[in-house]
Order: sequence, then C-alpha cells, then structure tokens
Amino acid sequence: TAPALEIVDLEVVYERRDRDPVRAVAGVSLTVQRGQILGLVGESGCGKSTLAKAAVGLEKPRAGRIVFDGRELSPLTRRARPLEDTRLQMVFQNPFSSLNPRRKIGAQLQEALSMAWKGSRAGGEGSLRDRATALLEQVGLPASAAERYAHQFSGGQRQRIAIARALAADPTVIVLDEPLSSLDASAQAQIANLLVRLSRELDLALVLISHDLAIVQHIADEVAVMYLGKLVETVGSGELWELPAHPYTEALIGAIPKPDGERNLPVALAGEVPDPSAPPSGCRFHPRCPYAMDRCRTEEPPALAIGSGRTVSCWLHDGAAEPRRPAELAAAGRGA
Ligand code: SF4
Ligand code: MG
Repeated sequence: TAPALEIVDLEVVYERRDRDPVRAVAGVSLTVQRGQILGLVGESGCGKSTLAKAAVGLEKPRAGRIVFDGRELSPLTRRARPLEDTRLQMVFQNPFSSLNPRRKIGAQLQEALSMAWKGSRAGGEGSLRDRATALLEQVGLPASAAERYAHQFSGGQRQRIAIARALAADPTVIVLDEPLSSLDASAQAQIANLLVRLSRELDLALVLISHDLAIVQHIADEVAVMYLGKLVETVGSGELWELPAHPYTEALIGAIPKPDGERNLPVALAGEVPDPSAPPSGCRFHPRCPYAMDRCRTEEPPALAIGSGRTVSCWLHDGAAEPRRPAELAAAGRGA
C-alpha cells in the first residue's frame, strides 16, 4: 500500500528584504506509513517546523512533491494553500493558540467534526455531541470536559484537547510540532504514551517534531535527524540509540544526560548552528564536526544507504558495508 505521507525533495525558501534568502528546507525526502511514528529531530532553526508546515500546506514549497495517501498534493501552486484534505492534520506546540478561549470545548469539537463532515451533519446534533464525547474519552478526558473552557485545563489536558480536535477530522496523518516541549515531565510522558496508543489503535501516521531526541527515540519507530535544512540520518529508533552513525546524531545522543548525570558519549556538540542563509560549503556540519576531513569542506556528502533501510549523509560511511561508529571509522582512516 502507498505510504500515508511521502515527501520528495522538498525545498522551502524564505525571501528576505535586503538580505540573502534562506533555504530553510533544502531538499528533504521522507516517508511515513500508517501506524508508524516518525520522529523528526534537530536543534531549533534547523528547518523542521518549516518542513512540517509545508507538509500540511501552511507554507509554500519552492520545489518538491508531497504525496498524501497515494495522491499528489499541491502541484506547487506557488502559494500556501488551505488544507485541501482534512485528513492531514497539524497540532502545534502551544495548544492555547489553536483553541478558542470563549467557546466550550464540546462546541469546538463539534464544530471540527461538522467541518470534517463537510457540514452534512450526518445524524444531527445528538450524534455530533456523542462523537465529541467519544473523542474526549479517546484522549483520556472525561465527558464533562465538553462543558468547560480551555483556560480551565492544564497544559497537558489542553494538548489532549488539541489532539482530540485533530482526531475529529478522522485523519490519516497528524503532524505534531513540539507537542511536548511546553509540558512538565509527567505530562510529557502521558502525552507520549497517548500518541503511541492512538497511532496503534487508529492506524495513524504521526510525524513528531522535537528538539528532544531522548523523548523522540522513546516513542518513534523511525527517526529522521535534520541539520541546517537537510536530513543527515534516517534510522530505526532502536538502532539509533545503539549506534548513531552520523557525527551530529552522535553528538545529540551524547548530550542526553544519563540517570547518573554522566553523558552517554564523550562527544560534545561544539559551536553554534551557522547562519542558514549562508550554510557552510561541502558538508554543512563540517565546522562543528570532530571528524571533519579535507573533502568534507568542499564536497557535499549524499545520503548513503547503509544497513537495512538506513541513510547517512557523511563521508566517513562512504563505501562502508554496515553502520559503524564515527569514531571507529575515523580511527580506521576512512575517507582520509
Ligand atoms: Fe563530519 Fe565529514 Fe561526516 Fe560531515 S561528512 S559529518 S564533516 S565526517
Ligand atoms: Mg520550531
């Protein structure tokens, strides 16, 4: 069957007055299947939010294709389009911004339901109300939540409501941009578990965008790591933890503290993210990479397929038969 969402060579460019344009998304390809959670990670400013917005039609791509459920969306109309298919939904970091403060939650869910049903009001008011109650239960909220307003809920509960509203459209794909980052640790864990359950129960494809690799690798099936507008590695989340293949991924994992406070890997991420309007030549990561070689400064590494279904954009892995740690490859003098 066709992937739920397929993004091919997507490019998004921001034109800026008196300044160089920014290629915020510089040719990214991704695939998400139904029932799968794809984590998209990277530091802030790497283009992941822009990629997400372009995927759901809130940002115009300059080039590339978006294939939703086997059907090509937006033949590059050169402008952001309204969501042409409600089955492709987005949830934002701050659920407050997408909820109406003056309307009861139940009314907002019913509105989302009737919009998705194209106003056919199939079954009338009673059935809309029942369906809204069912949505609340699906995200772990009591039916009485329908009678309350957004400000009467905690951050985690509001994120549940935002997810319920996305579910009202009977989506195939939900793109969630930093859905956990404004929540405390216990709410994060609860929403993370909810996402896993919904993806399984409803056969939903979820794209989970986050700067927090620790959370993402915990709940995602597949992880795509983005750096300065490009993907540097795509990998199954289990493998990622065992063996980060790209030096940037290795540094991200190394920065996650272990329970005893020690770092996981003795690799620190040096320096700042460079200006995306003037990305470094060759491999964009080379000014921060502890393994950078001469060719890294001039030649851009392609996405190399290594192992099973894994891609890594790094010269260290050029010609490697199987994924290995960057340090091992560097010690073996690969690509030098
Ligand atoms: Fe580092 Fe070179 Fe690999 Fe880029 S291509 S990540 S600079 S070793
Ligand atoms: Mg962002």
